[in-house]
Amino acid sequence: MTDLSQILPDPVFPCAECQAGHMHRDYVAYFTYLGDELISVPDFPAWVCDICGRCEYDENALTRLTLLLSPNAGKTITPSRIMPNRTRPKTKTQRPPSPE
Ligand SMILES: [Zn+2]
Repeated sequence: MTDLSQILPDPVFPCAECQAGHMHRDYVAYFTYLGDELISVPDFPAWVCDICGRCEYDENALTRLTLLLSPNAGKTITPSRIMPNRTRPKTKTQRPPSPE
């Protein structure tokens, strides 16, 4: 019987925040705005410190998510046709005909 988790342990990085803890692979909820819409991604891969709780989102996952959320990335967006300003004709003040 071999325990795979002992052969292949999760990679850990020293925490840049507290210098004492280690960043462990974890899954957190990620929130971002797409235009003016709030997008939430549950179970987003991230690195979390076991001491101070510092959370860093996985860069590869971030890049993939950015590509997913912006289908127009790399494309040139043609601006919508600008409507010419119509000059409003001045309204003449009409005087009521004076009764004679
Ligand atoms: Zn830390």
